[in-house]
Amino acid sequence: ETSLPSIPTFSQSLDSCFGNNGIQLCSLTELLGLPGSGKTQLCMQLCASVQIPKILGGLNAEALFVDTNTNFTAGRFKEIVCASLLKCQRLLDSPTDIKDDEALKRLHYINAFGLEKFCATMYTMPKVVEEHPNIKLIAIDSITFPFKEGISPSQRTGLLFRQMAELQRLALEKQIAVVVTNEMSTRVGLSTGSVVGSLGDAWAHRCNARVLLSSEGRERRAVCLKSNCGPNAVGQFKITEEGIRD
Ligand code: ATP
Repeated sequence: ETSLPSIPTFSQSLDSCFGNNGIQLCSLTELLGLPGSGKTQLCMQLCASVQIPKILGGLNAEALFVDTNTNFTAGRFKEIVCASLLKCQRLLDSPTDIKDDEALKRLHYINAFGLEKFCATMYTMPKVVEEHPNIKLIAIDSITFPFKEGISPSQRTGLLFRQMAELQRLALEKQIAVVVTNEMSTRVGLSTGSVVGSLGDAWAHRCNARVLLSSEGRERRAVCLKSNCGPNAVGQFKITEEGIRD
């Protein structure tokens, strides 16, 4: 059995939810959760984690962040990437300068607000990945937001499924980890509330791993709904100034 490298979340408890050492390459992971549950923060953490040097078992790679809901802030990403690389360097016991600019350059940010812009982004994504072969993570935050308006339910289903299939193909072909977020509404639950809720099992099959994030006060939890290692793992994590931590 070969094990591909994975992208750590910087929380061991959370890592174990996704399989073994974090988010898997060659696979499509869905992060589900209510607003504020930490989906965007986790995506930003993963975009930082993917930069970890090879000498520390990292991928020394780049990330593509597709922002459909203008949740991303460069300031917050800089905070997370600097703290996370610094933490790695301390482990290496060779504190060198963190080059903020270098770290920021290794994140390819696309603002894809609105359905048209989102579809255009999805269309050009294989080309972007081709042009930047060191991209090992694609984060789409969120994949469902563009579909909230301006499209009929049946059109939405067809389009979303084609795009998910394309993402899965890209993940496999280029050995990339694809992470998509899916926000649930506060009023309704997992099965009926979200854009994909009504798609049910067919949607779940499209994802290689699905993790539900939630928070109660300062307690943050992750429940694995599906993964290579089977479902039902539960993890705990914190969101700190430095990013995602145990
Ligand atoms: P939405 O569906 O609205 O996009 P989300 O699931 O993406 O929500 P995030 O934006 O990832 O949620 O998480 C927001 C949470 O992250 C808040 O609870 C906030 O307290 C926490 N947070 C953000 N920045 C920091 C920080 N610098 N230090 C500590 N916690 C932070």
